[in-house]
Amino acid sequence: MKRETLCIQAGYEPKNGESRMMPIVQSTTFKYDTSEDMGKLFDLEASGYFYTRLQNPTNDYVAAKIAALEGGTAGMLTSSGQAATFFSVFNLAGAGDHVISSSTIYGGSYNLFNVTMRRMGIDFTFVDPDCSDEELEAAFKPNTKCVFGETLANPALIVFDIERFAKAAHAHGVPLIIDNTFATPINCRPIEWGADIVTHSTTKYLDGHDATVGGCIVDSGKFDWMAHADKFPGLTTPDESYHGITYAEKFGLEGAFITKATAQLMRDLGSIQAPMNAYFLNLGIESLAVRMQRHCENGQKVAEFLENHKNVTWVNYPGLKSNKYYERAQKYMPDGTCGVVSFGVKGGRKAAEEFMKHLKIAMIATHVADAHTCVLHPASSTHRQMTDEELIAAGVGPDLIRLSVGIESIDDILEDLAQALRSID
Ligand code: PLP
Repeated sequence: MKRETLCIQAGYEPKNGESRMMPIVQSTTFKYDTSEDMGKLFDLEASGYFYTRLQNPTNDYVAAKIAALEGGTAGMLTSSGQAATFFSVFNLAGAGDHVISSSTIYGGSYNLFNVTMRRMGIDFTFVDPDCSDEELEAAFKPNTKCVFGETLANPALIVFDIERFAKAAHAHGVPLIIDNTFATPINCRPIEWGADIVTHSTTKYLDGHDATVGGCIVDSGKFDWMAHADKFPGLTTPDESYHGITYAEKFGLEGAFITKATAQLMRDLGSIQAPMNAYFLNLGIESLAVRMQRHCENGQKVAEFLENHKNVTWVNYPGLKSNKYYERAQKYMPDGTCGVVSFGVKGGRKAAEEFMKHLKIAMIATHVADAHTCVLHPASSTHRQMTDEELIAAGVGPDLIRLSVGIESIDDILEDLAQALRSID
């Protein structure tokens, strides 16, 4: 099935007489006839549900849909994108291990790695996504457990060379994890380029309506844990908390990673998505293909409009021919990238603030990547504690405006931008 069809059809398949729409299984627990039946679940001998902290049918329908869209074998929903990022790495690496990450990932992911997970004893090396082969090679250590990158970096909009990083990771016997939040599986399927695990903040385009915070992890089912058994003892040696089962043996390539993440991490850390949120997320995904097409069309038109405006000093959008990442974007995302555009206005910080004041449709919000056009001036909000010099060093200049182009009429969006730009003439 094509992606447009999977958005609607994948995941939940009602049987004769069952509800057309997936049910919201709003229940913490599940009933069994005998303790023996339930015991089999606790031993991972049978599949089924016993407690929603670990698994819930509504979540599993939606995770299966996202896994189908990404071309993976198994998926799990998490309470947020942060939880998905954390679980994807922590399922492989622990104290004493090392991880390589692109340096231009989302700030929340960077902080999770560089502060919180370091505190847990995991070492990180951050590499420039455009580093040389020698620099990338030099980042690997004997205790490296995975490589992490973002298809389309938030907010820098750098297009990650997935194929190149996948080859490097595989040459060292470790998987590549890709955060595919901004591109979505409609525009890029990282697994087709060699990625082994894909994560999402479903809060963004997948939900697409500012309605629910959530995350997802998808496993490609391609990484051979047993072939690198010494690196991944958590997957390749017995788990005594489940009577000595070995995930890679019992659940095979296609199921080991997600089963371990569910049986250990969800059990112990409990960051599951509420079934009601999973239901809303599914509604969002049903229109994902049509929305992404519109986001990209609108994003492209806005970027071209801004590039030709006298009060705009620079525009960053990988769909512009003048963009450094245009060619790479054509390779990985030939149908379009996303609706997020960043740009600077003449007059710097003051002019940026004035311009934002005059916007009527584009709402000021810290969010990105949903149906509503929204805008943020980091220098006067998320990064307001920094001086102009510090902002430039962080790659978020004082004039930078991040615009997340929604799916409203392009005429109205352009008119809104035009009248606000006139205010700084
Ligand atoms: N990954 C990316 C690319 C993001 O943009 C975000 C949030 O902005 C996250 C992960 C974290 O997601 P959440 O806010 O759902 O925890």
